[in-house]
Amino acid sequence: MDAIAPTTALERSTALLEALCAISSPSGDATGLRRCAERLGRELEPFGFAFEIEDEATAAGEPQPLLVARRPTTGGGRLLAVGHLDTVLPAITPTRLGDRLHGTGALDMKGGFAALVGALQTLAERGADPPPDLVVLAVPDEEVGGPISEAAMRRFGDGARAVLVLEPGLPRGDGESLVVGRRGLSVWRLEARGRAAHSGLAFAEGRSALAAAAGWAAEVQGLSETGAGPIVNAGRIVGGDSEFVQDLGEEHRFVGTSQRLNVVADRCIVEGEARYLTLSDRDRVLDAMRDHVAAAAARWQVELHFEVVDEILPVPPSSAGAGLAATLVEAAAADGWTLELETDRGGVSFPNFLPDPSAVPVIDGLGPVGCGMHTRDEYVSLRSLERRIHLIAQALVMLA
Ligand SMILES: [Zn+2]
Repeated sequence: MDAIAPTTALERSTALLEALCAISSPSGDATGLRRCAERLGRELEPFGFAFEIEDEATAAGEPQPLLVARRPTTGGGRLLAVGHLDTVLPAITPTRLGDRLHGTGALDMKGGFAALVGALQTLAERGADPPPDLVVLAVPDEEVGGPISEAAMRRFGDGARAVLVLEPGLPRGDGESLVVGRRGLSVWRLEARGRAAHSGLAFAEGRSALAAAAGWAAEVQGLSETGAGPIVNAGRIVGGDSEFVQDLGEEHRFVGTSQRLNVVADRCIVEGEARYLTLSDRDRVLDAMRDHVAAAAARWQVELHFEVVDEILPVPPSSAGAGLAATLVEAAAADGWTLELETDRGGVSFPNFLPDPSAVPVIDGLGPVGCGMHTRDEYVSLRSLERRIHLIAQALVMLA
């Protein structure tokens, strides 16, 4: 191992975070993102990593840098540490104020990478090597839907023996959280076809697709459970006569007029999503939605077609990482602070894109906590940074 500057892990980590935050790297800024990736890659080299920066294309075909840093001596598996270098806003000069480091991306999530480097230094000070199969992955497009993030997660997650996600945890009173469960989601669509008729002259001849679909939407929204149960959200509904629904871009001018309100609405489309923590919850809620499809079709005598058009797998809280998470909670307590496990985060993140998120130990939210994500008031707590350095070092020892 090359000589490491004789600073403490916290000092090294804070200096790196300040340097990373000073480099402006909003999503899409390939030059800034590459500078950021190079800075992080160079920081990993003294700990035995070799890095490369691959060019990955966005949906629009523009190259964006993906940092992959590996230890030259690979073990049997792959321990993946992952995060993103892109920020929502362009950078302003970072500043330190007491316990806080203010900077763009300090919390979300350059702080997670800085904590990882601090953890590597902590191991080095103890004369311990990081796990030989540790791979650090820094993606450029998480804040903008992330096709590169998703593809990289699928590629490097395939065969990973464990995944450490460096996104920030949350403050919890005087303590902090770690994420062990993330919801998956099914994007669904209901199409209803009825029969148009003049509502004044032949109302009984009509079959209202709108009434069937709107009633169904209210029923399925009502399937939502509180707590850890699944939720269903009908996000959009368009109903009316067929021309109105098919050519909404042009026909929306009828909204607010009385024109064609004398037609029994024969077309309706409802779109939405269901979110759940487990696959059994998914199956249960989708089955219930289909039961309501059958009931609504029979009641209103219309044709209903329900389909799931996209799906993202959940990271169930009782998955393979539970033992590791419990040990980290104990390690935090031994360090004198409280670490809580967040078993139910609604937002989709990196581990949702693993081939089977329930089969791999996943520890998420390992990065330091702070406040003001995506705003000009963003900061990270340096006390939390120190905690997270110890926590990640502990995780690396356990996974060695
Ligand atoms: Zn983030």
